[in-house]
Amino acid sequence: MELRALGAHNLESAGSRLVSLLVDGVLALDAGALTSGLTFAEQRRVQAILLTHHHFDHIRDLATFGLTAMGQRSLDLYATEETLAAVTTHLLNGVLYPKLHERPNPQAPTFRLHPIAAGQPFAAAGYAVTAYPVRHGIPTNGYLVEDKAGKSLFYSGDTGPGLDWPGQSPDLLVLEVTLPNRLEATCLEAGHLTPGLLARELAGFQKRQGRLPPTLVVHWNPQFEEELTREIGEVAASLGGAKLLLARDGMRLAL
Ligand SMILES: [Zn+2]
Ligand SMILES: [Zn+2]
Repeated sequence: MELRALGAHNLESAGSRLVSLLVDGVLALDAGALTSGLTFAEQRRVQAILLTHHHFDHIRDLATFGLTAMGQRSLDLYATEETLAAVTTHLLNGVLYPKLHERPNPQAPTFRLHPIAAGQPFAAAGYAVTAYPVRHGIPTNGYLVEDKAGKSLFYSGDTGPGLDWPGQSPDLLVLEVTLPNRLEATCLEAGHLTPGLLARELAGFQKRQGRLPPTLVVHWNPQFEEELTREIGEVAASLGGAKLLLARDGMRLAL
């Protein structure tokens, strides 16, 4: 399994892209950088998209990605009923942008919508996927994704403290950290993690599973790079040299 962090951040600038991950070039997790992070040829390879929730930084490129695909092919979009409704009501609504779940025609739309429910495994682009509820301002699911060779990762989406880890032990954790430790109150209010809060989650995982897989940190606010780099380093040291990596836009990891 190859994981590419198309975008690693919660804010966009000329030097930072919104959160979006790509597994083996074909399965996208969140859509914050699906067009800003991929060439047209790479976009054509994507077969399915999983959305963790409908906050704008996670769905933004659905519109631009879908318009490029419209009339050329259909692809699968997986999310909860609520997130699919938010996307089709507020973004792909025929006002802001075409109804890409109905066009070019309802029998073969650009996006085939697949409502999913937490805890019920499903297949997407040939991967076994299970959604796990996490704690955020709106209903949000993390995803456990497993390939046919048995390699797996768990991506949290946006979450505050209190993760219920999947029973299975993934080979890679992709977790959010949004702000530095001194802004913990803001994170707790909005349902996000700081490095300090992440440390407690990882300690919980280690206790439950008896091991700690490498962890990739995404959704980090690029305005606090220096502070977050230092604090993530402190977390790694506090967990006995755990492998913690701040994701960079375009970064590739092989599992
Ligand atoms: Zn969010
Ligand atoms: Zn977000």
